[in-house]
Amino acid sequence: SALPDLVVVGSGFFGLTIAERCANELGLKVLVLERRHHLGGNAYSEIDPETGIEVHVYGTHLFHTSNKRVWEYVNRFTTFTGYQHRVFGKYRGQVYSLPMNLALINQFFGKSHTPDEARALIAEQSREIATEDATNLEEKAISLIGRPLYEAFIKGYTAKQWQTDPTELSADIITRLPVRYNFDNRYFNDDFEGLPTDGYTAWLTRMAEHPDIEVRLDTDFLDPANGVAEQFKGKVPIVYTGPIDEYFDNCEGRLSWRTVDLEVETLDVDDFQGTGVVNANDQDVPWTRILEFKHLHPERTYLPGKTIVVHEYSRNASVDDEPYYPVNTAEDREKLLKYRDLAKKEPMVLFGGRLGTYKYLDMHMAIGSALSMVDNKLKPHFADGAALT
Ligand code: FAD
Repeated sequence: SALPDLVVVGSGFFGLTIAERCANELGLKVLVLERRHHLGGNAYSEIDPETGIEVHVYGTHLFHTSNKRVWEYVNRFTTFTGYQHRVFGKYRGQVYSLPMNLALINQFFGKSHTPDEARALIAEQSREIATEDATNLEEKAISLIGRPLYEAFIKGYTAKQWQTDPTELSADIITRLPVRYNFDNRYFNDDFEGLPTDGYTAWLTRMAEHPDIEVRLDTDFLDPANGVAEQFKGKVPIVYTGPIDEYFDNCEGRLSWRTVDLEVETLDVDDFQGTGVVNANDQDVPWTRILEFKHLHPERTYLPGKTIVVHEYSRNASVDDEPYYPVNTAEDREKLLKYRDLAKKEPMVLFGGRLGTYKYLDMHMAIGSALSMVDNKLKPHFADGAALT
């Protein structure tokens, strides 16, 4: 059969944005190759058939952005609910409102504070260490918010997230630890926020609904048995959104990632924790947080008496794990530079998305960066004949 105009490897938000724009705006025939059995990348979700609850298969996804162009673009494919994300944290048998704010300070210290009193208290407690003298994450955190809040809300959680004692983590991991001297507990402070009304998969599926977009599932671009790399490399432009190290056969060594184990269970209670996310701040509780999906869509109707919760456990990813967050050690950054050099020399291939750039990208960032790639690389190439570099 005839070659497509463009091959996109990976059907996450980055790949689908490229495919959608190239088909609709540039009139191209696009072939999307996806190694999983479903499209959508990590934002993919499924409706549990028993309870009707939408389960985010690769971890909870909350959409938020202040980028007007991205907001207008995504609204072509879905409407959004008015959901506003809020996070709570459990510590020593008590539940606190996060991010650290006046409600948390009052509850934690057992008395009410005006904003100025709270500021004075935290300033006093953080005097113990000067920020410029901090030699590790623990000292840096204490220098910013003081020891009591650090020990309750940062220490255990951070230790579990990194499986490393905070005294052995670099001070550079945190630049600031914002404390809000008011009762605002909205998690995101973006201009736009909400969840896709009929779910992530409906949204992602609509992005690929164009007669000139073909999505081929269960097809790993790098598996020689599929023959796709051989078929397309050097013959048609390729946008590759898989792991950059894998593309080059890990020739400079593997980039390190962290992953999250998700333990999903259906419980016979109507409401387990009264909200979507509760962090586990105690160091001796093995999970980092518990998600309860039905609270993300309170507007939906569910089977009563049931709920679905997920316990999350954070750890270093091995070869067979889903790569979630770049670890980004000095060694990783060195390898990445070498891979970037190789990527620049790879003819007719553009690297993008979180795996292709080894960067944590929120959904709006992945979409925004794909729109820029269309403007800056693909449109000049396909519309004006510019070289693809
Ligand atoms: P991905 O979604 O990872 O898509 C890449 C696709 O490429 C995958 O489907 C993969 O199977 C495929 N692929 C890889 N290699 C190959 C190959 N060789 N051949 C064929 N296919 C291949 N963002 C937010 O905005 N809000 C959130 O609350 C949020 N929560 C998150 C929670 C977790 C645990 C994680 C990991 C991410 C979260 N994100 C969140 C980020 C969001 O998932 C990313 O922004 C989005 O996934 C980026 O899209 P992408 O297309 O770059 O990558």
